[in-house]
Amino acid sequence: MDWKKLSTTKITQVYKSIFLNQCYICNAKAQSTLCNSCNEGLPANLNHCQHCKRPTHSADILCGNCQTSRPAYHICVAPYRFEGIIKTLIHSIKFNQGIHYIRPLTHLLSEHLIESYSTDHWPEQLLYVPSHPSRIKERGFCQTKAMTTQLTKDLKERLDKNPPTVPKKNPLKKIKNTLAQHSLSRKERLKSPQSSYQLDGTIAKHVAIFDDVMTTGSTIENCTKLLLKAGAERVDVWVIARTPDKEN
Ligand SMILES: [Zn+2]
Ligand SMILES: [Zn+2]
Repeated sequence: MDWKKLSTTKITQVYKSIFLNQCYICNAKAQSTLCNSCNEGLPANLNHCQHCKRPTHSADILCGNCQTSRPAYHICVAPYRFEGIIKTLIHSIKFNQGIHYIRPLTHLLSEHLIESYSTDHWPEQLLYVPSHPSRIKERGFCQTKAMTTQLTKDLKERLDKNPPTVPKKNPLKKIKNTLAQHSLSRKERLKSPQSSYQLDGTIAKHVAIFDDVMTTGSTIENCTKLLLKAGAERVDVWVIARTPDKEN
């Protein structure tokens, strides 16, 4: 299948997927949101840095960046590499209003979260990295907010306890409209998020931050430091996908 030719904004597809148990991507019969064949085509982030989950060639190493300056978050959950079908689906949500792909993606992330926290404490609070208000206006919605809402629903269905609380007003605010990360060089990306975010609201002791994709990790690191400064004792990072380094 050519993933780039996926059609978008199909209300009927959502209907079929929910009520007729069809795969959200290819319409084949499916037990879950995706059929076996689409599931097998997902770019799992198998070999990665122990701490920041940067895709690497060998498993369970600590990458050069983490050896030099270990990011302040406690753990990072990043089950996929930002490539192939995952990249197509996320782009489709962001740029083509393919919002019906949110459900299969958050469904996949919730499976990985349940596994990750099977022997760990769940965070008390879930925040998301927001887009700047002008970008939200341009696209008509904030994709990380929509994903967080769906993710919480998925977790609620699957957990026998309440999932982390999502505050009515997300305390993380984007105050500076930086250029889109994907249009910047690595050097520019590392520079750009400085002071782009601010906090406004009550922060729990153990917080999780959600973002759809982590590229250099500088945005997440920036937000983590803000939260720690505001009194959080532990910050966990939840992303759907991690961008592989260009040289990988
Ligand atoms: Zn399928
Ligand atoms: Zn690392």
